[in-house]
Amino acid sequence: QSCVPSSSRALMLLAQLEKLNGETLLTDAEAPRQISNKILHLIQTQEKTRKELMTKSSSGMEVILASLERTRDLQTTLNILGILSTGRGVCVLVSKGGTGVLLQLLLSCGKETPPNEELMMQIHSLLAKVGPKDRKFGVKARLSGSMNVTVNVVKQNSHNPRLLLPCLQVLRLYSSNSVNAISLGQSGVLDLLFKVIGPYSRKNTSSLKVALDTLAALLKSKMNARRSVERRHVSLLLATYLDWHRNDSRHRHMLIRKGILGCLKNLANIKLGRKAFVEADGMRILYNTSVDCLPVRTLDPLVNTSSLIMRKCFPKNRLPLSTIKSVYQHALPMLPAGGTVAQLYNQPPGVDDVADDSDDNEDAELDTDNDMESEQERHSRNDDIETDINKLRPKPVQTRPYEELKMYERFFIELSEDFQADVTSKPLSPVLIPTGQAPPTVPETEGISVTRVAPQVAEADLPGSLSRLTLESSQAVLEVPDTAALLPLHDPDLYIDMTKVTHSVPRYSEVAYPDYFGHVAPSSPEPILDRAYGVQRTKIFQDIERLIHPNDILDKVVYDLDVESCPAIDDGEALKFNSQFESGNLRKAIQIRKFEYDLILNADINSNHYHQWFYFEVSGMRLGVAYRFNIINCEKANSQFNYGMQVLMYSVQDAIGGRPQWVRTGQDICYYKNHFSRSSMAAGGQKGKSYYTMTFTVTFHHRDDVCYFTYHYPYTYSTLKMHLRKLAEKRAEGVYLREDALCETLGGNSCPLLTITAAPESSKHEHLNHLRNRPVVFLTARVHPGESNCSWVMKGTLEFLTGSSASAQTLREAFIFKIVPMLNPDGVINGSHRCSLSGEDLNRQWQNPSRDLHPTIYHTKGLLQYLSAQQRAPLVFCDYHGHSRKKNVFMYGCSVKETVWQTDINTTSYELQEDLGYRTLPKLLSQLAPAFSMSSCSFVVERSKEATARVVVWREIGVQRSYTMESTLCGCDQGKYKGLQIGTRELEEMGAQLCVALLRLHRLTSPLELRTHTHLLEHELPETRCNITSPTTHVLDEDEPGDLEKVDYSAESDDPDDEQNEQLSDPDTFG
Ligand SMILES: [Zn+2]
Repeated sequence: QSCVPSSSRALMLLAQLEKLNGETLLTDAEAPRQISNKILHLIQTQEKTRKELMTKSSSGMEVILASLERTRDLQTTLNILGILSTGRGVCVLVSKGGTGVLLQLLLSCGKETPPNEELMMQIHSLLAKVGPKDRKFGVKARLSGSMNVTVNVVKQNSHNPRLLLPCLQVLRLYSSNSVNAISLGQSGVLDLLFKVIGPYSRKNTSSLKVALDTLAALLKSKMNARRSVERRHVSLLLATYLDWHRNDSRHRHMLIRKGILGCLKNLANIKLGRKAFVEADGMRILYNTSVDCLPVRTLDPLVNTSSLIMRKCFPKNRLPLSTIKSVYQHALPMLPAGGTVAQLYNQPPGVDDVADDSDDNEDAELDTDNDMESEQERHSRNDDIETDINKLRPKPVQTRPYEELKMYERFFIELSEDFQADVTSKPLSPVLIPTGQAPPTVPETEGISVTRVAPQVAEADLPGSLSRLTLESSQAVLEVPDTAALLPLHDPDLYIDMTKVTHSVPRYSEVAYPDYFGHVAPSSPEPILDRAYGVQRTKIFQDIERLIHPNDILDKVVYDLDVESCPAIDDGEALKFNSQFESGNLRKAIQIRKFEYDLILNADINSNHYHQWFYFEVSGMRLGVAYRFNIINCEKANSQFNYGMQVLMYSVQDAIGGRPQWVRTGQDICYYKNHFSRSSMAAGGQKGKSYYTMTFTVTFHHRDDVCYFTYHYPYTYSTLKMHLRKLAEKRAEGVYLREDALCETLGGNSCPLLTITAAPESSKHEHLNHLRNRPVVFLTARVHPGESNCSWVMKGTLEFLTGSSASAQTLREAFIFKIVPMLNPDGVINGSHRCSLSGEDLNRQWQNPSRDLHPTIYHTKGLLQYLSAQQRAPLVFCDYHGHSRKKNVFMYGCSVKETVWQTDINTTSYELQEDLGYRTLPKLLSQLAPAFSMSSCSFVVERSKEATARVVVWREIGVQRSYTMESTLCGCDQGKYKGLQIGTRELEEMGAQLCVALLRLHRLTSPLELRTHTHLLEHELPETRCNITSPTTHVLDEDEPGDLEKVDYSAESDDPDDEQNEQLSDPDTFG
């Protein structure tokens, strides 16, 4: 017998078993018992047999399962279960329908009284292995009706660990199905599990862990969670957690503690649960235990989950304001017909006073699984792609009659002027400058050099007037840093003159020092900040301490615009704040602790939201102390402050000492969802009802300093006017530069329109003809006031265009530039982030701008329509923007093909002919400008963007090269500036490089040269396709696309069941 190979022995035995299965009457129980016993023996001792019997191709599994179904003999059943659990063929078992056979066996076994313990254990052990491999396990179990058998076994054996563990494991598998979870909850499993959980004990910890996981899975159902809260399980769980926290001193059972927290976390998803948690002193318990756990790094998962639970349960507060509507209102000439502004005006008074803690709908938002969220995001993004092929065809439409458009003729006098006077001498081109006296000319030798000023000013000797720079006292004894050499376009006195004719809604009478002194770009690079470990958690714990130790909180208002005359509190104990100057927007400052302040930003005028931009002044600081600042009413769901962006600080002491510059500063920066909320009605029906905190910490280096903090390098309207005046003065020979006032804004400020080209060589017909035949390039910027970076890009463009370089001259000879450098002066002046005084986003008004409410858009569009009517539609249109959530500089354009490729429109029915010319300019920029990234560009037309400048100019005016150029507020992650935050030098360079790219575009598009350069366009073709198929080219929102780096800044967490996942990831990303 020993010479028969074991495999053939096994096959022989199988054959015998199969034969027995075929017999109609099973009289002999002994034969199958013996055969199955022999197979079990073989399989336990010989690896080879095991493999042979359990492969998918062999029929071994079928024979064995058939025998299992057929036999009524206990020993045979146990033998077969032994065979099945010895092998590694669980997948084969599942694929051959083994789950059903086992569940049937469980059901019939459950009918015996009492059920056989050994059999129960074997079946459950095997099911515990099978379940995870069978995706339909939960459904099969429910349909078979066998779940109750398991529940009963657990009920009767809660003190029998040998049987309890496998049964609980199977129960956990049942519970992961949401329908099962509800029915198990109804049959009393919650109470049953609490019986198993009990107080701290070192025995049976495996069962305990599984019981906790099962409970957590059941509590995902809101019905179960409610039932559980009613049975006072929240306090029970908290007591158990405390019990384990105290007894598990060597942290051997971290997973059990985490399991308890997992249950609490799910209970906190319902309002009832949060209330019970707070009432059971949960905040204090989890806070104190977390403080104990903090020093032990391996306990981070406990701290993170605790922090997540505490954040969920932290009572929602309303902002400490009487209303979230902007402090300042501006009377409009007419009320917008619809939209958020009309809604705001029609709101019943006090509607925004409602702190919204009412509904469980919010839970969905709080608890949304990360994957789901991105799924939804992707879904809504695809929804946003324009699929109406008619809307995708650029259609030049003449909406206004030509008679009316003729009013724009006066903005194009260069096309009709005869240049009879000597065109080469500077003053003759009709420079139209707004009011204001002639700038004082300062001989360069007279200025005090920056370096000489420094040693002369001792810190203590600062004049008292330093704390305020008002328009009246502007001629103070201040030592103004002489920056004439470094900042040719800056002149402090001229700046003051310009501010005097700038109209702000709050009627500002002060000037901020940085705007007065000017800003010199720092010479050393400023790297993107590395995020320190655990920053967010630390900050959140400090926030939670406010609730735990309320007596430590000062809660002292030190600055408040809502109070008449805004009394500045000066008791020597608090910092002094001020923001009442152009582009400033701090509304309220509250001292929380000795060195910590909550700051609230003002909403855009005639609005109750859009807080992101900030600009304010701080004085009265102590030396060498770390101050924490929290801007507590941010609204964006995420921010580059989570990815290395720092705030900007300007020190007046440093400026006087020879370093007049904004410096990237601040440590411990992070951005996260906080405990302040507003009603969805107050948010204009927006989904996000929670506010976010942007926190940063700063240590000051000078006593008696005046420092400024801002979101990004400020660029005020008065600065623009000063720059335009200086540009006109300093422009190179032969530059034709004209400044017209396009229109007046709602706030009574003039909107400048620049015309730049090369003055004709002479007034001869051919020279005039040459000028009049130049194509137009149309540039606009700063429609969004909070995007000050784009003004610096525009400054770079203007300096290049009026400069003396040979390429600038060639470019001027090639094009007529029409430039509106600031489409939203009122927003900029009044410190708004997004809107104009009408409370609307001007870049959503291009389709149908109102002459009364959106004059700058109405008339800029008018200029374009006039050009179009003259058959002179611009060659290029580009609107400069800033991007708060992405790195680098990039463009959005419009392409029918690339849009269609993103959708399921049947393209074969439309023979799409599209010139690839729209790709040339971005392509050239990616070769020329180090900050520019081609891979971030997108040429998809979205429905939500149909009223933006880019889409309307493309569709209605017929400009194929119509772009939005987005510049990062943070920094670059590619190219020469990789890893660096962006500064004004890089932004200005970008503006200049756009000009260089336009020059190359001119060479490529002029008919003579086009033929020789077609290779460039052809070369782009293959790349085109691969670029647009990548998801990164798709854009959710003009200014805020959805594809962001992953950092969990809000209260969401990963699936707690996925242990490995949680341990692998950075703990700081949780809670
Ligand atoms: Zn923008």
